[in-house]
Amino acid sequence: MGCSTLYHLAKLGMTDAVLLERNQLTSGTTWHSAAQVRALRSTRNLTDLIRYSISLYSALEEETGQATGWINKGFLSIATTPDRMIHVRRQEALANSFGLTATAISAGEAKERWPLMNADDVLGAVWSPDDGRVGPTDLCAALAKGARARGARIFENTAVLGVTTEGGKVKGVETAGGFIQTDTVVVCAGLWSREVAAMGGAHAPLFPCEHFYLLTKPVPGIEGNLPTLSDHDAGLYIRDDSGGLLVGCFEPLGKPIAPETLGEDFAFQLLPEDWDHFEPMMAGALNRLPALETAEVKMLLNGPESFTPDGGFMLGETAETPGALSWLRNEFCWCGVWRRGWNGARHDNC
Ligand SMILES: Cc1cc2nc3c(=O)[nH]c(=O)nc-3n(C[C@H](O)[C@H](O)[C@H](O)COP(=O)(O)OP(=O)(O)OC[C@H]3O[C@@H](n4cnc5c(N)ncnc54)[C@H](O)[C@@H]3O)c2cc1C
Repeated sequence: MGCSTLYHLAKLGMTDAVLLERNQLTSGTTWHSAAQVRALRSTRNLTDLIRYSISLYSALEEETGQATGWINKGFLSIATTPDRMIHVRRQEALANSFGLTATAISAGEAKERWPLMNADDVLGAVWSPDDGRVGPTDLCAALAKGARARGARIFENTAVLGVTTEGGKVKGVETAGGFIQTDTVVVCAGLWSREVAAMGGAHAPLFPCEHFYLLTKPVPGIEGNLPTLSDHDAGLYIRDDSGGLLVGCFEPLGKPIAPETLGEDFAFQLLPEDWDHFEPMMAGALNRLPALETAEVKMLLNGPESFTPDGGFMLGETAETPGALSWLRNEFCWCGVWRRGWNGARHDNC
């Protein structure tokens, strides 16, 4: 989010913007992201943001010469209950009304797109061909390169220690390298955003969690890249990864993290595997992918991540610190858009 925000500010001509990173770029959550990109969101504006992101990924590579790892293999969301079938049809209708391509397909057609899937209990699916995934580190490198080329600066190993306010408005930022005078702060500190926003007296309601995906060694039948397979009823998303499987989950009961327990030097680190926690999702995954029975497990990756209470993006000027403190948190979309942006300018698409 920091790289994207800096890139877009620089593109808008705000080349005196700086990005402060207390460790190294991507070292928090981004480096281990599964990085799937799903365009369909609950509203037209949010969908347009992701659609813009997708167009950016190719353009950025052309502009900077740095690959973003964009792979456009589509997204297949299956239904195994009648209620989920209603959801599938709604997704098709909603996507089409937003101008996205999405088609409800039969279980047989879904199996053709994901031959390793057990489709015995599948009632139908929605197919979204425009979705894909990025290489998260490559994407950040491209955004950083584009921002720097326009004069914006990035300071790594430079922690934000405090946000100074006067009369309720932002006046500057205390950093490990000195004080920076500014009237606008955009908080892009991932799961640490609550703490950084609080430095300026603002509240960022983020819920940090442990987040898991299973990685296997190469599995027969996985050749090249496949669409992302989503099995909402089992809380799973599945894709290929280096010839093997990546099986991620959105479990019914998440495991919260207290960010302060991670330590300020938490960089390129993971959390311990927790097989007991993953076990119910594993049972669903074995049903969906019988090939998992014999697949050799590489690791159960557990990385820190954070969620908003309603799963929506957190955008806009904060109510608590009006005038300047903005804060952002998102999943791979550009959200350099806030209610009253830099110098009070309102963004055209907002
Ligand atoms: C297992 C897993 C799978 C995922 N899969 C997907 C997916 O498929 N699709 C998707 O869209 N998203 C996915 N995500 C989520 C996605 O990775 C995150 O939403 C995204 O990486 C967050 O980026 P960010 O820039 O907000 O945070 P981060 O990458 O965490 O960056 C925040 C940075 O702030 C820095 N920082 C913290 N405090 C300070 C301070 N005081 N001063 C200076 N710097 C500070 C940190 O060092 C860190 O580098 C996944 C996450 C996980 C864990």
